[in-house]
Amino acid sequence: MTTDPIERAADLLGASRRLLVFTGAGISTESGIPDFRGPDGLWKTVDPDDFTFERYLKSAATRRKSWLRWSGSPLRQARPNQGHLAITELARLGRLAGCVTQNIDGLHRAAGLANELLVEVHGNVWTVRCLACPAEWPAETVFDRVDGGEEDPPCSRCGGIIKLTVISFGQAMPATEMHRGYAMAQAADAVLAVGTTLSVWPAADIPLAAARRGVPFVIVNLGPTDCDGIADLKLEVPAGPTMSRLVGLFE
Ligand SMILES: [Zn+2]
Repeated sequence: MTTDPIERAADLLGASRRLLVFTGAGISTESGIPDFRGPDGLWKTVDPDDFTFERYLKSAATRRKSWLRWSGSPLRQARPNQGHLAITELARLGRLAGCVTQNIDGLHRAAGLANELLVEVHGNVWTVRCLACPAEWPAETVFDRVDGGEEDPPCSRCGGIIKLTVISFGQAMPATEMHRGYAMAQAADAVLAVGTTLSVWPAADIPLAAARRGVPFVIVNLGPTDCDGIADLKLEVPAGPTMSRLVGLFE
């Protein structure tokens, strides 16, 4: 048996026809996005109370702060890296059951992954929805309204409160996205977790739902995860170059 960890991962996953990929902050660090929970992360520089759903609903000032913060966010300037592109390549090869991501940066979509293969369980910084009706807009159109002087832009259809699809603390997980994620986990014949500590619930239950069915389970993450003990293989390596080489071994 090979001692090269990426070749070992390819031995476990390379025959997969319906791989579930679950990604977290670690796949986007190479795009210049800091891990929110890491030492330089967002939660060290802002008050998490400003991000509760309850406060967003109650306070026009909080909503205004939120629009201003996100419209200038470096998240919206980032470009996908070779890790994102490798997952899109898996889709092109017809090997992907789906990609479920905890990331809100939209970089899987920017890397060309089709909507039907992508589940963003924590939302993204590119889409705004009304909390009261089904209306939806590209975030840019709402940022433009704020730039144009609207303090607290309401839904242009029903007047309700509108919000980026990014999930706030205390906000329910999006039911449709969770269902789609579990359906991908049910269909998967192998599961690969990339750049995640698998510690944020309920999102982390989706890859584990696949792992519990006994399919091969590989983790690529720098640092320990909550599931190191149950994975078939754990690689302590950077996501981008690893994913690129691993997917190369699929062909
Ligand atoms: Zn509305």
